[in-house]
Amino acid sequence: MEDAETNCRAVLAKLYLYLDGEIAGEGCAVIESHLRACVSCLRRCSFERDFIKIVHDRCSEGRAPEYLLERIRHALDEMS
Ligand SMILES: [Zn+2]
Repeated sequence: MEDAETNCRAVLAKLYLYLDGEIAGEGCAVIESHLRACVSCLRRCSFERDFIKIVHDRCSEGRAPEYLLERIRHALDEMS
């Protein structure tokens, strides 16, 4: 379905902002309702959430190195 695909792309594009808590209100609700309906985005979301947590846990400044996030983003892009 074309609409679902468009939504997936929109959700994945905002996933990092969402996980960082930088999306509030309506935008956040849109993403959450999509995640409830879409298993593949939900999986990707929990994968990224775990990844971010690991990076944060290991990083004493509590901040993920940007180059590392970039590498993961590329790897995920190749996967999809
Ligand atoms: Zn989706």
